[in-house]
Amino acid sequence: MTDFRPETRTVHLPQPPLNGSRPITVPLYQTSGFIFDDPAVFADGMGRPDGAFVYGRMSNPTVRSLEEAVSGLEGGVGAVATGSGMGAINAVLFGLLAPGDHLIAQKPLYGGTAAMINDMVGRFGITVSYVAEDDPAALREAVRPETRLVYLETIANPVTQVADLPGMCAAAREAGLISVVDNTFASPILCRPIEHGADIVVHSTTKYLSGHTDVLGGIAVFASDELYRKVWAFASKLGATPDPFAAWLTLRGMQTLSLRMERHCFNTRELATRLNDHPAVSAVYWPGLPSHRSYELAAKLLPDFGGVFSFDLVGGREAGERFMSSVRLALLAPSLGGVETLVLHPATTSHRTLTAEELARHGIGEGTVRVAVGIEHIEDLWADIEQALS
Ligand SMILES: *Cc1c(COP(=O)(O)O)cnc(C)c1O
Repeated sequence: MTDFRPETRTVHLPQPPLNGSRPITVPLYQTSGFIFDDPAVFADGMGRPDGAFVYGRMSNPTVRSLEEAVSGLEGGVGAVATGSGMGAINAVLFGLLAPGDHLIAQKPLYGGTAAMINDMVGRFGITVSYVAEDDPAALREAVRPETRLVYLETIANPVTQVADLPGMCAAAREAGLISVVDNTFASPILCRPIEHGADIVVHSTTKYLSGHTDVLGGIAVFASDELYRKVWAFASKLGATPDPFAAWLTLRGMQTLSLRMERHCFNTRELATRLNDHPAVSAVYWPGLPSHRSYELAAKLLPDFGGVFSFDLVGGREAGERFMSSVRLALLAPSLGGVETLVLHPATTSHRTLTAEELARHGIGEGTVRVAVGIEHIEDLWADIEQALS
């Protein structure tokens, strides 16, 4: 570039060769597109996920590193990363369903997914039936000739029901349906739904996978190459693509996933157990407690029970609201899966669009408090919760 003028040289920056070494960390390829020496390679890279990198909406090496990492953890053949968890869920649903199709979804469902399915049903001519997350017989009964897909969640929000993944996925397979499992709450450390018969696993990587409350992202992992290619092609057109920097932050967070999950689960077990014995608390919902409706299923399916739990206070809604304005270390905030402990009131925030009857069906009370437990010292967390209860 030495023969060019400053105006040109500032545009075309040097890219020094690495001369035999390479970076320890995954490089951040913060570029929207790629340069070709050979026009034939350029042409060949269009329209498929395994050719040369061409344009960032279709693929990027930093994003691909995340896709291969999560696909490997989940035991898939390929993955499509997206800009948010809802991006991954919608890439799968809109990529695989057509007007006239029927889907079977579990109740309870994550709020954003429930709202999206309502929208699909209202505007896109898709129909839905809801079944309990642990009832394969109900699933079999709900199947119609036009049913295409079954949608499940490993651990549901906020009262943490655990899905009967082996039973539900087997029933889906018998009927020739695609099973999709949202594994966000468990992370691949606690559960790998493909091992239990799922065809597609989706995550909000915003939560445990990235783990530091600083990035939005999602990913869909596929057990079959056919489904992978179909959704990849749709997602490239849809444009739910993540920015490379978001993928890079997610990879950086993921390196400590197993350590964080261990502490999340340990802290949650302590808090759930202690609250269960507290006189101000009327019920605690965590699948690791023998009193939880999913306990037996969870004990078979999961090595530990996750970092989210909910509880009801004896004083109902008013006591719940007082609790949430009394915590000091725990933060009143949405989301979960980060290093900080967060609390929220589902009835007025994440589940505000549900009617009283729907709330009851989800097992959510007027005063239910959800806690997304962080990785702080357990005694600091307990001291905060105890003072807020009194
Ligand atoms: C947060 C979340 C989502 C949505 O993910 P976003 O990254 O917020 O789009 C989907 N499913 C579950 C279980 C979640 O917790």
